Amino acid sequence: AIRTFSTSIRSLQPVSPVNSLNIKRTTPLFINGDFVESKTDKWIPLYNPATNDLTWRKSSILSRQRILLDLQLLIREHTDKIAKAITEEQGKTFADAKGDVLRGRQVVETACGITNLLMGEQLTVSTDMDTYTIREPLGVTAGICPFNFPAMIPLWMFPLSIAAGNTMILKPSERDPGAALILAQLAKEAGVPNGVLNIVHGSIDTVNFLCDDEHIKAISFVGSDRAGKYIYKRGTANGKRVQANLGAKNHGVVMPDANKNYTLNQLAGSAFGAAGQRCMALSTVVFVGKAKEWIPELVDRARKLRISGGMEPDADLGPLITGQAKERVENLIQSGVDQGAKLILDGRNPTVPEKYKNGNFVGPTILADVKPHMECYKEEIFGPVLVALNVDTLDDAVELINNNPYGNGTAIFTSNGSNARYFTTSIEVGQIGVNVPIPVPLPMFSFTGNKASIQGDISICKLDGKSGLQFYTQTKTVTTLWRHEDVDHTKSAVTMN
Ligand code: NAD
Repeated sequence: AIRTFSTSIRSLQPVSPVNSLNIKRTTPLFINGDFVESKTDKWIPLYNPATNDLTWRKSSILSRQRILLDLQLLIREHTDKIAKAITEEQGKTFADAKGDVLRGRQVVETACGITNLLMGEQLTVSTDMDTYTIREPLGVTAGICPFNFPAMIPLWMFPLSIAAGNTMILKPSERDPGAALILAQLAKEAGVPNGVLNIVHGSIDTVNFLCDDEHIKAISFVGSDRAGKYIYKRGTANGKRVQANLGAKNHGVVMPDANKNYTLNQLAGSAFGAAGQRCMALSTVVFVGKAKEWIPELVDRARKLRISGGMEPDADLGPLITGQAKERVENLIQSGVDQGAKLILDGRNPTVPEKYKNGNFVGPTILADVKPHMECYKEEIFGPVLVALNVDTLDDAVELINNNPYGNGTAIFTSNGSNARYFTTSIEVGQIGVNVPIPVPLPMFSFTGNKASIQGDISICKLDGKSGLQFYTQTKTVTTLWRHEDVDHTKSAVTMN
């Protein structure tokens, strides 16, 4: 039976107010179906009655499916409310925040197919003997989220986990927990029983608790390399199944035969949209041969993007998440200049409307003639900064990308199918776009990072989609023998056959 999560968490840290929920002063924990005020330096009890967990695991798959169907409807109805919370706390534009909710809701819609997704396999192996598989929930699972997709990433995690019959303790990013709380409220309204989805806040202390608590069987993590490697090590050392989806440096290869206007528009959108704070942002462009002549036109497009508060209707990109993030991005831009790159568009200290003058804004920035040894190439910048490299051939581009430790996403822009096919088969990256800049697959597939962008057993580590369920379930294989004819049961069966 699933163990209950019924223990104490030490030193939960305070987080900012969640205005969209009209909860004043503190962000509550969402525990056992209730919102509870956080006390920063004290033990806070979390109760999860055993009956709820046991009931959930034993609930019929159809009742779980029904709840997910209702949840996706509620998310659809409350999209604007969730998106507003995202824009207020994370900074991305309202349109982009709605996309954040949409991409998450699609995972719920996929999880509604749990009746098909959980089907096992069956084979009649000989007369009267059958072998079949059962996929069972693990028990208590945990999810640890980054700041950049406050709705989509929690929704990558909890719908599939609970659809499979697990319970989940979700820790949103301490920088923007509001969307996750609204989702928890909607899950409760949809009929998710108390104790099945729990939200806890904080940072390292809370993470340590989740890595150490013996009741937790599996952890999904999405975030930076530093935190992810730590959580992977600590969680697996405690015998847990851990998938850690980490940082990225995604390259877009531009062939001279590509459709120029389409390519440049896509490059500008995917490098600077969401202020570059996407793990699939196309933050590195590799111009092959004469394609480098298009750089001035790319600069023109980037210069036209409007930098403003995310709720402003004309905003193309909003601020960075913190002042610290802004400073880090500005320093990486400067390091590029110092190491010999050409700063052909400098977005530092951009002009923004007066009311946003204290915000963490950096405008679109382009560093050209970047070389692989430079810091601005080696580091994931996670800001609206596009670094541009030039190579002579497609083979050079493939070699460059394959030498990069990360393997989250990449794209090629070309009108030549043969080059595109060669690229997709030669490249060591998990998610590849052909004339598609941000090739995040829909959740009936799976998010499939590669190389240093993921830690964990790749055969089961998948965030969403059918393969995502493998992470949240344990397979049993049952072999049965029901003899139809009368047999002699008086002799011992000593031979294996
Ligand atoms: P982060 O690692 O700072 O935070 C992620 C989570 O880890 C948070 O919940 C935070 O509380 C916790 N955390 C932070 N530092 C910790 C530490 N030292 N020890 C233990 N826990 C810690 O990441 P972020 O800045 O919120 O998100 C941006 C990063 O996430 C980028 O690197 C981006 O590429 C990555 N990301 C990856 C994917 C993917 O699918 N591979 C998707 C989205 C974001």
